[in-house]
Amino acid sequence: MKCALVTGGSRGIGKAICIKLAAMGYYVLVNYKSNEGEANDTLAKIRANGGDGELLKFDVSGKEQIQDALGKWIVANADKYIEVLVNNAGIKDDGLMMWMKDEQWDNVINTSLGGFFYVTRMVLSSMLLKKYGRIINVVSLSGLKGLPGQTNYSAAKAGVIGATKALAQEVARKGVTVNAVAPGFIKTDMTEGLDEKEMAVLIPTRRFGTAEEVAHTVGFLASPEAGYITAQVISVNGGLYS
Ligand code: NAP
Repeated sequence: MKCALVTGGSRGIGKAICIKLAAMGYYVLVNYKSNEGEANDTLAKIRANGGDGELLKFDVSGKEQIQDALGKWIVANADKYIEVLVNNAGIKDDGLMMWMKDEQWDNVINTSLGGFFYVTRMVLSSMLLKKYGRIINVVSLSGLKGLPGQTNYSAAKAGVIGATKALAQEVARKGVTVNAVAPGFIKTDMTEGLDEKEMAVLIPTRRFGTAEEVAHTVGFLASPEAGYITAQVISVNGGLYS
């Protein structure tokens, strides 16, 4: 059984990635933080398409929770290994840096950058042992360009981009690729408060993207055929920034 783990698989981009990987034949571990209803909906959609998976609840910003939930799964499933990892869970908590609170900085950094480190380290050893793996990190245009009001989020995503490029070079010889996908504005809960009509004039494609369009890129990078692509950041942003 081929297994894939998607962090933040209950909603938005993560949900679409879970459905895409399941359609590619993966048994999908759907991670989420608290929204069990939406996580169950992801699993139901996977099963409705003829796939399968299970829920794996843990907060990616807490290393003890990761150890507890993911560590236990790995021990209990010694006959399986996670060959595709998508580090997708992320939050934003915007504000000008002048007024930014410690918690705003810590929570955003610990979720994207801390989550990447602690989750990836846990699944890496089996990928290296099996000499095959795909790690895809969902970053952001904000981590490439920097966006005002998002020093915490831009720093977190830029940190993951640097780590992607470094780790890719560490593990390339072992058949493990590490890439990042950088979405622009995608229609999910995260962008709910934004006025698409008003902002679309800035985007060459004149629209926000869909979660499925990001998932398609992730699916491509997760495929065996993408084995010669590593240490890259692929933007899915309608031409907004290059
Ligand atoms: P979303 O709709 O807000 O969904 C966020 C997902 O992450 C949910 O499944 C949520 O779980 C999960 N999550 C949040 N914190 C978590 C934690 N500490 N531990 C485990 N899971 C956690 O967001 P989205 O728009 O799909 O964004 C997905 C990724 O794409 C994020 O990394 C985001 O930064 C990035 N991104 C999004 C956009 C965009 O325009 N939407 C653009 C660029 C980059 P619960 O349901 O349990 O809360």
